[in-house]
Amino acid sequence: MGIGSRPAMCTSCGKRLTRKQWYYRNGQYFCKRRCWVKESAKVSAEAAKAESAKPTPAAS
Ligand SMILES: [Zn+2]
Repeated sequence: MGIGSRPAMCTSCGKRLTRKQWYYRNGQYFCKRRCWVKESAKVSAEAAKAESAKPTPAAS
């Protein structure tokens, strides 16, 4: 990871991030905490969906 690896936009809302205004969580950047909360809720919902879509492991 070199210079410029920081994204210029909020992962959640796509708002442009300024140098002093960004919020880093779980390898992603957001413009504010609220966006992280929103995005993490979305991600966990998708993860739960993906989890339930998985075939149940065959019990022996
Ligand atoms: Zn945002």
